[in-house]
Amino acid sequence: SLQAKMSRQVQARRLEGIDKNIWVEFVKLAAAYSKVNLGQGFPDFPAPDFLTEALTRALGGGNHMLHQYTRAFGHPPLVKVLAQFFEKLLGRDLDPMTNVMVTVGAYQALFCCFQALVDEGDEVIIIEPFFDCYEPMVKMAGGTPVFVPLRPNPPKDGKLMSSADWQLDPAELASKFSERTKAIVLNSPNNPLGKVFSRGELGLIAELCVKHDVLCVSDEVYEWLVYDGKQHIRIASLQGMWDRTVIVGSAGKTFSATGWKVGWVVGPDRLLQHLRTVHQNSVYHCATLAQEAVAQGFQRELMLYGKPESYFVQLPKELQQKRDWLVQSLDGVGMKPIVPEGTYFLVADISQFKSDVPDVPSSDEPYDYRFAKWMVKNKGLAAIPLSAFYSEAHKNNYTNFIRFCFAKEEATLKAANDILQKWKQEKAS
Ligand code: PMP
Repeated sequence: SLQAKMSRQVQARRLEGIDKNIWVEFVKLAAAYSKVNLGQGFPDFPAPDFLTEALTRALGGGNHMLHQYTRAFGHPPLVKVLAQFFEKLLGRDLDPMTNVMVTVGAYQALFCCFQALVDEGDEVIIIEPFFDCYEPMVKMAGGTPVFVPLRPNPPKDGKLMSSADWQLDPAELASKFSERTKAIVLNSPNNPLGKVFSRGELGLIAELCVKHDVLCVSDEVYEWLVYDGKQHIRIASLQGMWDRTVIVGSAGKTFSATGWKVGWVVGPDRLLQHLRTVHQNSVYHCATLAQEAVAQGFQRELMLYGKPESYFVQLPKELQQKRDWLVQSLDGVGMKPIVPEGTYFLVADISQFKSDVPDVPSSDEPYDYRFAKWMVKNKGLAAIPLSAFYSEAHKNNYTNFIRFCFAKEEATLKAANDILQKWKQEKAS
């Protein structure tokens, strides 16, 4: 035949072992079967009017240059207002041109961090459970992920567990640091647990970073989503940490507009200069119109900072109510929720539901995967198995949980409650 034969391996070696992805499968299942989708992390309520109005203004406002390229490392109005905002939050002067870079969502911010800072043979500490892309991104950069788990300590008084009951073992954490350690990834508030790291926990991590001269990639995309009067503490504000920390943020999470894919990094120039090299040579920049509108969103928030009208004050209030509804729904049917201190995720214990799900003896799939698939197909309710947020080596210790997203309209959460109530009645009869 005239057709050229390709017998050689076509894919680069860096893709080995990272070709399976939880989202491909579960997003497809949710699309096919779910009546109520509490799986993937995005709001089903609208983004705030001030943001969509800013986009409409940018689009129709007569500045046709907003349809063209802007500055590669961030549209000037956006980096300027981000610098102003983070100056307030961090209590230090920032240069918008060198201490801030805009990315295509927090995803690309993370990709730039690992590509720019991790070398062949470097170890990167990842706290489990973790947002799943950290592991393949570290591997693609040639690094070796080293995992350390948050360990659950169930409360003895019969109260519901809180995400605060999942803690690092200080000795275990310390044992993961060595001269090969280049960086640690911190995600507070944490997806999937909703844990908000305390000052003490952050202090411990900071101390180890300084002692071992290790960098910190601090994924803070849920920085505004903190409940019950808890405070989000930025590790970059701790002694010795600014110079070694890259803060990662997301307009998608901040302004309930995940489809816009606007993210950023904030950090010292000595780190960001290398992220700029990766960004310049891969993505170049993120849509100008979206950056313009996000800049206006931040200008509004800067003006209203700390005031009751601020979206950053209102959104967590609304989400806390939604969290409480979902906690109640799940608790009511015996799917024990772990009450999250932050984020819009909630992890629930499904160990009481084993008899509902047919055992598949030939399957090597963990129980939480089988449960989540069975639930979406038979009950129309989509959630994500927690073990997807663990390394291969530790997955099997955490197969009794699933993760729900509660950034949803009241009607969606009511519909989820109806499914759960009906299920409970069926079980009882
Ligand atoms: N980090 C965490 C912890 C996340 O949960 C997500 C999105 N689910 C991201 C980063 C990516 O954010 P973005 O949508 O802005 O790319």
